Amino acid sequence: MFAPNENRYDKMVYNRLGNSGLKVSAVSLGLWQNFGFGSDFATAEEMVHTAFDLGITHFDIANNYGHPYNGSAEENFGKILDRGMREYRDELCISTKAGYEMWDGPYGDKNGSRKYLTASLDQSLKRMKLDYVDIYYHHIFDPDTPLEETALALDNAVRQGKALYVGISNYNRQQTEEIQKIFKELRTPFIVNQPSYSMLNRWVERDNLDKYCLDNNLSLAVFSPLYQGFLTDKYLHGVPEDSRLAKGGAPWLEGQLDDIMLKRLNALNEIALSRGQKLSQMALSWVLHNKAVATVLIGASRPSQIVENAECINKLDFTDEEISAIEAVLK
Ligand code: NDP
Repeated sequence: MFAPNENRYDKMVYNRLGNSGLKVSAVSLGLWQNFGFGSDFATAEEMVHTAFDLGITHFDIANNYGHPYNGSAEENFGKILDRGMREYRDELCISTKAGYEMWDGPYGDKNGSRKYLTASLDQSLKRMKLDYVDIYYHHIFDPDTPLEETALALDNAVRQGKALYVGISNYNRQQTEEIQKIFKELRTPFIVNQPSYSMLNRWVERDNLDKYCLDNNLSLAVFSPLYQGFLTDKYLHGVPEDSRLAKGGAPWLEGQLDDIMLKRLNALNEIALSRGQKLSQMALSWVLHNKAVATVLIGASRPSQIVENAECINKLDFTDEEISAIEAVLK
């Protein structure tokens, strides 16, 4: 039976999402890869337990996560809850999303309709055996559905008691501004945007999305903060066999680990070591250093990575010299 670490809340940092009452752990665990039926269940369960033991309270999922079929990560998470964690439900902040292709036909296709968002949340709750999720996200902006319809669908999930708060993911600044106007009229508890962001992917800054959120009571929950593993000491000498890239889990990264990237990663690694951190830890601290960011959503393939990554909270500050040195490498 699972018996969590009694000191789990001693070290983790908790940040408020927007100006809401909800705080989440500065490091959150994402269940996108390595949690479906195609992955080892014992490892997946150990990763969730390890995270919870470290004070990680926020678990980020989506309807389509998991291989070999969509939804298997949610099913496995439900099973993990059943095997001793369900009694800690009130210590957990669980999010799910809908927006990408999920099931056959026009209603489960990539979209933002009321039809899809409503049915998908019901399915997610069933798979995880939950009465409600803490945060329900629209996963990606849909140019073909009126934004008001998507907003009303999320708002309705809250009014039905199936979600406590709502969020959006992969929305740029302008799209965020537009949907926030609607949520304000509806008085929806809209508190978070979930974009990709890391030292190697800074569109959020270029778009001023971070500044907009900071000025408008929204937080960022950042995905792929390690650039899917590049920002760790794993790729410093090339692509190792046992990596997401080698295993085909990151087609977006193909061809990106060239000489320039290798030099850059090694230079960043030197800066991290001089701060007394591993590259992974500095990369996460750096993302959290952006005041708009409330939490980094990390992925993992083994429990030790979660232990290593969670230690980023021990050194969140940067000197001006360190920031300049990092900027010089990233230029
Ligand atoms: P990361 O950038 O944290 O990449 C995680 C991967 O990096 C791990 O699976 C592991 O891969 C490797 N890794 C992690 N820590 C270490 C370490 N200390 N040392 C060496 N390698 C390490 O994030 P993800 O891309 O996985 O995304 C995280 C979460 O964000 C997802 O689970 C999901 O919840 C969310 N997300 C949301 C999206 C959206 O559209 N809203 C899109 C994508 C993700 P390996 O060991 O296999 O090489």
